[in-house]
Amino acid sequence: MIIVMQEKATPQDIEDVVSRIKEYGYSPQLIEGSLRTVIAALGDARDKARLQSLESLHHVESVMPILKPYKLCSKEVKSESTIIDVKGIKIGGNKLVVMAGPCSVESREQLVATGLACKASGADILRGGAFKPRTSPYSFQGMAEEGLILLKEVSDETGMPIVTEVMNPREIDLVYKYSDIIQVGARNVQNFSLLKEIGRLDKPILLKRGLATTIDEWLMSAEYILSEGNREVILCERGIRTFETATRNTLDLSAVPVLKEKTHLPVIIDPSHGAGYWQYVDAMSRAAVAVGADGLMIEVHWKPEEAYSDGPQSLKPDKFDKLMKALRPIATAVGREI
Ligand code: PEP
Ligand code: MN
Repeated sequence: MIIVMQEKATPQDIEDVVSRIKEYGYSPQLIEGSLRTVIAALGDARDKARLQSLESLHHVESVMPILKPYKLCSKEVKSESTIIDVKGIKIGGNKLVVMAGPCSVESREQLVATGLACKASGADILRGGAFKPRTSPYSFQGMAEEGLILLKEVSDETGMPIVTEVMNPREIDLVYKYSDIIQVGARNVQNFSLLKEIGRLDKPILLKRGLATTIDEWLMSAEYILSEGNREVILCERGIRTFETATRNTLDLSAVPVLKEKTHLPVIIDPSHGAGYWQYVDAMSRAAVAVGADGLMIEVHWKPEEAYSDGPQSLKPDKFDKLMKALRPIATAVGREI
């Protein structure tokens, strides 16, 4: 249920409702809006009549059921867009955010060359995996902590915050130490124990869509994180598996308007994994900006033909530079900056 407080409700009035919600056996979650506070009471819906009675309090405006299965990430609970601040970079605001870098961190030379090029072209955030979810156990698995240290070095040099993947609850502390945004990859989107653990962190989470995850299932995964207290989740569409084989995945750009209707969380697009081939990354990035995405995640590699992972979909720095320039007029046309 959602308890909408009166505009003039005082902190004591809010505290009063919070303690009543707890008394009734529900978990109160505060959502501060610019005009009023909304309190979501989460728990067993069977006894909701007790919550309904809160409507008689003078400082409560209304009590409504939350119709969607996801609560805290729904627009019903919070109509204003969530803007996530990562070291001064705002994700979900008017300015588009570009995350760029190699699929995997492979060496200092590779990361420095690629990171500096991304920065020079206008990327905001440095991406790179140190723990890699590979289909084959014999493929390169990532540089682990050594890779995280390199990310930190290049981040310090360029001023770009880091987004990097955590695959396993055992590695959360390590990834937390070096990252600014923690990525949950497509294959872990329904690893609920991992989602709960990272829901207790105070760093933003980039939650990728799974290969076969519906939008509602994906939002329920986001809800796992939010319900543990971490409200800073960025959704990243990275393509879903369909019958089509001409591209690695099918980039579901319709997810952007659908998500914009359902949730207040920022939405970014990863055209690299979506398309699987660098030739299509440019067109799909432009389309993503046009459709209203809040940003992009793009794989860039100084020498894609030598990449340990995802070389075929990685842009060379000069192509990335061209893409960044091509995005500007499209961003302007849809009232955004880049
Ligand atoms: C990645 O970002 O390199 C990655 C492994 O992505 P995904 O989880 O979307 O496959
Ligand atoms: Mn990759």
